[in-house]
Amino acid sequence: MKDCRKAVIAGNWKMNKTPAETTALINEMKPLVADAKCDVVLCVPFIDIAAAVEAAKDSNIKIGAENVHFKESGAFTGEISAKMLVEAGVEYVVVGHSERRQYFGETDQTVNLRTLAAIKEGLTAIVCVGETLEQRELGYTETLLKYQTKMALTNVAKEDLDKIIIAYEPVWAIGTGVTATADQADEGNGFVREAIAEVYGKEVAETVTIQYGGSMNAKNADELVAKENVDGGLIGGASLKAEDFSIIVKAASK
Ligand code: PEP
Repeated sequence: MKDCRKAVIAGNWKMNKTPAETTALINEMKPLVADAKCDVVLCVPFIDIAAAVEAAKDSNIKIGAENVHFKESGAFTGEISAKMLVEAGVEYVVVGHSERRQYFGETDQTVNLRTLAAIKEGLTAIVCVGETLEQRELGYTETLLKYQTKMALTNVAKEDLDKIIIAYEPVWAIGTGVTATADQADEGNGFVREAIAEVYGKEVAETVTIQYGGSMNAKNADELVAKENVDGGLIGGASLKAEDFSIIVKAASK
């Protein structure tokens, strides 16, 4: 990662932890990440947000959600708006995670609408992009990452890019224990940065935080975040263990 950018380590808890377990895990994490020199975020299930915000009060841990609806309100049973999240104390939201694209019909268009809704209310959107193994093997990684990035950022103003984090998450590396090599992560993040530069210019593209995600853990974090284009990580499995998560935070604090 480069000094001109903010490193952000964000946990994605997926569908794990009850509110009581949330309080316990955050209380365990707080002292372990207190001296972090990067931003520390935990994206938790909607039902855990109140407990997470309360437990993280007076600490350097910020709370995120795992999804947001693109309308402000209305007849959308089961959905949560950006305004609701902000009022609950949420500062970040994951948008377009590959599990939502894969299992819940998320498209590049809805990812874009969710991103716009999130930043309109002042949330920072952690927008996920990434290729499947088949797309990589066919040689489409660069084309796909650039397309997904540009689609997600459609109608996002240049001055709002400071509310955007892109997480490059190769689908084949998520939850599989298979991590991209540090060079693959750097290359993927580089494609994302190039896409941003093609739309907004090189200067501002250099300032955008681009995370890597996909089986990042306490053992491989050092090597991954040492790469020029890797500005931290979006962490699934390893964010459910206080000790492991804190080691990743330390790697990004160097
Ligand atoms: C994720 O859920 O975004 C993720 C990267 O998961 P894992 O670290 O478990 O691969």
